[in-house]
Amino acid sequence: MDQCGGSVDYVQESARKTLTKQGYHLAAHGAVKPCLWLNRSLRGGDQCYKHHFYGISSHRCVQMTPTLSCNHLCLHCWRPIDEPIAPPEEWIEPKELLDGLLREQQRILSGYGGAATTDRSRLEEARHPAHVAISLMGEPTLYPYLDELIREIGRRGMTSFLVTNGTRPDVLENLSPTQLYLSLNAPTEELYQRISNPSSPGLWKKILESLSVFKDAPCRTVVRMTLARRLNMANPEIYANLLERAEPDFVEAKAYMHLGRSRARLSREAMPEHSEVLTFAGELSATLGYKLEDDVPLSRVALLTSGKVSRKIFDA
Ligand code: SF4
Repeated sequence: MDQCGGSVDYVQESARKTLTKQGYHLAAHGAVKPCLWLNRSLRGGDQCYKHHFYGISSHRCVQMTPTLSCNHLCLHCWRPIDEPIAPPEEWIEPKELLDGLLREQQRILSGYGGAATTDRSRLEEARHPAHVAISLMGEPTLYPYLDELIREIGRRGMTSFLVTNGTRPDVLENLSPTQLYLSLNAPTEELYQRISNPSSPGLWKKILESLSVFKDAPCRTVVRMTLARRLNMANPEIYANLLERAEPDFVEAKAYMHLGRSRARLSREAMPEHSEVLTFAGELSATLGYKLEDDVPLSRVALLTSGKVSRKIFDA
């Protein structure tokens, strides 16, 4: 098996160039990228909403993906690729992939060493990542060894969040990250087709199956909705029906942000205010019987909780 960066064509040259220019660090067919919250945290500033909701330390978080390929092309996706990235010629094993991604994370951190604005104690902590967010871009369930990758992350003493679009329920059945997320983009099939541009037919049915898989998942579960004004930010009762299939521990209602490549597909007008997100979340809370427990105005996100599990993973 080839090590990261060998002669195998993991990512097409044109995509590689675009991604590298945008700050992605590639390791074979995976990638890691520092998010803006890691950057803020390392400068002694605020941390991301998952810090406020669940206790994740942004500067100790590795934002990565095992694959850049996706079976959706969502209107709201702000990632830099408009053309689908083909799967690699071959897949590498989880240990090598994780080694490569963590090496890239250390390379990213080394850039902070000489900066006067860096918070030294946070940088020292960051050198020992505590959490892996499998959510950078692409659909991670397309990586055939995802279950083993998640186990390997756990063996190395780190927690994991996995974000999926829910199109591969059979894969989800075998996974146990610390927290499993499903991004629910639409309340109906018709709207789903328009928003997510799936690469093959029949995927809405798969998403419905995934919602049922969530009900029996052996880990914490979250359904996240990215809400765009006058697109998918209506009919909370239909969303509630879908959510009842999954009975997730948490629901996150988050505003679409007018960033990156999504600006070519959606107007700035589609970005709701935080007050609108709160109104929608309140309606959903009343229909679903979940508590509207927290919100972060800067990220325009609200958290609904079922009350079944404690939301803090870390006391931070
Ligand atoms: S959870 Fe997401 S937003 Fe928060 S620090 Fe990690 S990658 Fe960044």
